[in-house]
Amino acid sequence: GDRQRVDIQDGLRSTVTMLAHKARKNKVKIEENMNGDAPTVLGLPGELNQVWTNIIDNALDAMEDNGGTLTISTESDDNYVRVRIKDSGPGIPDDVKTHIFEPFYTTKPQGKGTGLGLDIVKKILDQHHADIRVETQPGNTEFTIAFAK
Ligand code: ADP
Ligand code: MG
Repeated sequence: GDRQRVDIQDGLRSTVTMLAHKARKNKVKIEENMNGDAPTVLGLPGELNQVWTNIIDNALDAMEDNGGTLTISTESDDNYVRVRIKDSGPGIPDDVKTHIFEPFYTTKPQGKGTGLGLDIVKKILDQHHADIRVETQPGNTEFTIAFAK
């Protein structure tokens, strides 16, 4: 598809709407910190929605046992548009964290995870020259995606 100006907050909101049922089922409260001026990036809207879907889906899986809070934030400065997706799940152990972007790597039971979600995320973000980082500790995980303006 052709690159176009994509409203990041629109994509995040429609992804949240799509996953609202699963969030409710997993007793996850969703908080949105999206400030007034809608940041846009040049890119592929469908692919970017796939990125938000895969990351948020994992966050909801991480909170399925005890519920929790998913916090979605956007911010924009002169150089970058950043998206932060944070969950209050158990966190990712170091020995797992080193593998999460590898294709077919999953810690989920057979039939539940394909291990392709974050591999696809990485590939799509590479196409957008965007950077992804994960910060995690027991009790939370935060993915930060940065698009150069
Ligand atoms: P899948 O969801 O099919 O397992 P992914 O590529 O989407 O594959 O994720 C790979 C692995 O990364 C997951 O199996 C899980 O171990 C870990 N992971 C990803 N996101 C989170 C998160 N928010 N909290 C805890 N673990 C996570
Ligand atoms: Mg996944």
